[in-house]
Amino acid sequence: IKSLLSGKPALLARTFQSVAKPPIGKNGLRLLQWNILAQGLCMGKDNFVRCPLEALDWGTRKLRIVEEILQYDPDVICMQEVDHFGYLENILQSVGFTGTFYPKPDSPALYVENSNGPDGCAIFYRTEKFELVETCTKILMTNDENMTTNQVCVLNKLQHKGNSSDAFWVATTHLKAKSGWNDLRESQGRYLLKYLKEIVGQSPLIVCGDLNAPPTEKVYEAFSSSDLELQSAYKVANGGKQEPLYTTWKIRGGKGDTLEESCRTIDYVWFNNKCQLNAVLNFPSGEEIGVERLPSFKYPSDHLSLVCDFSI
Ligand code: NDP
Ligand code: CA
Repeated sequence: IKSLLSGKPALLARTFQSVAKPPIGKNGLRLLQWNILAQGLCMGKDNFVRCPLEALDWGTRKLRIVEEILQYDPDVICMQEVDHFGYLENILQSVGFTGTFYPKPDSPALYVENSNGPDGCAIFYRTEKFELVETCTKILMTNDENMTTNQVCVLNKLQHKGNSSDAFWVATTHLKAKSGWNDLRESQGRYLLKYLKEIVGQSPLIVCGDLNAPPTEKVYEAFSSSDLELQSAYKVANGGKQEPLYTTWKIRGGKGDTLEESCRTIDYVWFNNKCQLNAVLNFPSGEEIGVERLPSFKYPSDHLSLVCDFSI
């Protein structure tokens, strides 16, 4: 990958921050959560006017996505906006992962020229390390269960191989985007939390994804006050004080010649009290990200990856 990308700037460099000591014990796992940016959306609809077209080309982006994932050596990978599952499955299989993909029922990525199919959520795990106990995929309903929505989740129950520790659940989702949909996001979030409550029982749980909601939204409150007793990993890493300043930072073309800059925290990794958080991957500074923001030649998505080390 490095040689195929020679001449391109290095990916954004980031460092890990310890949270708990001692770190990773016997049942450690590194989880990478990332909205990778659907190829079907990034060339047109997203209108990333400051990003060179060549940086958005799938031929470039697919290598950068794999480079970003593999450089952190994760054990579990949770992704949103996956519309090239076949490519990722092929390449990740060759380095020891297997995955589950679940598409959005009516993905906007279907309606673009040269569509590669719908986008959706995916979970990959390292087969050498884990046994798959159970996998579920679900279309999210509203919390009153009166309506199905266009958003989905994927859930895996995994067991560390070779020891008798508890099996744990990993779930990932991508809630409805855009302003004006706060109530739907809350409803979808509450539906997911209710479903998790039914199936998770006393097991360790990590639930992550693009909630499309900053910490001021009701869906964030629903997660943080849920009877699943979830904590947000990056807030814990910040001494319990606050979420990071951003997980996505982009510039889109607005009306006329205007530009719309969006710098928000909307991606999260939540965990219950059967998991211990050991470390998180820090975010790059605004200066490091650069004036064109994301995506760019230095980074293939408008969302940054969230990487967390846990012990179960
Ligand atoms: P969402 O509102 O959840 O958004 C879909 C995607 O758009 C997300 O991946 C989101 O990214 C991205 N997005 C968010 N804000 C913007 C923005 N300002 N500009 C461009 N993209 C943005 O969509 P739904 O899944 O609910 O789909 C909407 C419905 O629209 C579908 O049911 C489908 O029927 C319909 N549709 C029809 C089309 C047609 O041509 N007939 C085309 C597209 C959709 P992020 O999460 O990163 O913010
Ligand atoms: Ca997007």
